[in-house]
Amino acid sequence: MHYPTLAQADLQGKRVLLRAGFDVPIEDGKVKDTTRVEANLDTMKFILDAGASLIIMAHQARPKAARVPDMSQKPLVPVLENLLGTSVQFAEYITSEETKEVAYNLQPGEVLLLENLRYEAGEKSKEESERDALGKTLASLADVYVNDAFTNSHRDHASMTSVPKCIPGFMGLNVQQEVEGLSKVLDNPTRPVTLVISGAKTETKVPVIESFLQHGQDILVGGIVANTLLVSSGREMTGTYDDNFVKVGKAILEKSTSAENAAIHIPVDLRGDNALDIGDETIAQYIDVISRSGTIVWNGPMGLFEQDEFAMGTKAICDAVVEATNNGAISIIGGGDTLEFLNRYGYNLGDFTYVSMAGGAMLDFISGKKLPALEALL
Ligand code: ADP
Ligand code: MG
Repeated sequence: MHYPTLAQADLQGKRVLLRAGFDVPIEDGKVKDTTRVEANLDTMKFILDAGASLIIMAHQARPKAARVPDMSQKPLVPVLENLLGTSVQFAEYITSEETKEVAYNLQPGEVLLLENLRYEAGEKSKEESERDALGKTLASLADVYVNDAFTNSHRDHASMTSVPKCIPGFMGLNVQQEVEGLSKVLDNPTRPVTLVISGAKTETKVPVIESFLQHGQDILVGGIVANTLLVSSGREMTGTYDDNFVKVGKAILEKSTSAENAAIHIPVDLRGDNALDIGDETIAQYIDVISRSGTIVWNGPMGLFEQDEFAMGTKAICDAVVEATNNGAISIIGGGDTLEFLNRYGYNLGDFTYVSMAGGAMLDFISGKKLPALEALL
């Protein structure tokens, strides 16, 4: 792995600017779930233990450059104080002289949290010059940059790609873990490689299918992605499908007939009048493929799992992935709703080889795309 790691950084006595990946649910000024703060805890502690001071920046929801009070980072102060066991200062105006002064006066072991990055128009600006201007201001606060926001690393935002143009940048421990875990798919994976791809957001899944057509052996589809491919194959569909991808789906199915490309398996039966889950015969066929796989990459629930009656397909596939893992296969899983499924039905994350916390960034990474925020560290 060629991106610079935290262990390679000289941190002693430095001011370290950490791009964290919090974006936690906040209601009535209270943080409702601290999982994503805890995901960055090892990195924060590593930096402080190395004798550096820590400046933390993150985004919260989508305020579109307006100071929406509900989207302030301030409720994270007590959460961080509790986790880090030290007091945390807060900077309301990221680009002010006052914030710069507070940053410059930080002593080793001290922590400063910046307000929501997305209150600044430069963060997500389409103009590189505007992103770079904000990036330069942010970088001026510190000596070293650390990216521990893997979930956001497919984005060309100021805090992700502009800051490391100005000061040396390193992967945080969580990013390093994601890169190492997901690299198992790319670096000489054990064959046959099976992609299980499903869920609702067809536009984000099609590029993954196109990549695995070239690099994988079998592709099992479910959910709205499968419904769409069924329409592409000429079937009538009463369930939800994505009209924008019917044509692309035809090309994908055509490609999969070629011997050098992966074989695409589409459902032979569906559950319910609205095709809300895959059927029993499909489940049996998919389990058979999974049980013969060397590497399994899975993203997206196979059906409307939020309703128990349509969770059957996803459960059966999940059980098969766990069993294949027990029998020595490599299993890599990710996706917001896929994790929600594992959570809801009490699956143990330790039963898979690697579970990614990311959605879009994971899909891009496993498709072999370069993530701009990782490339920016080089
Ligand atoms: P992930 O977040 O894991 O990448 P997606 O966001 O693409 O997954 O899709 C998850 C959503 O897809 C879930 O809310 C699930 O209910 C829905 N879904 C899956 N299959 C179907 C289906 N056949 N019909 C309608 N909704 C479905
Ligand atoms: Mg989702």
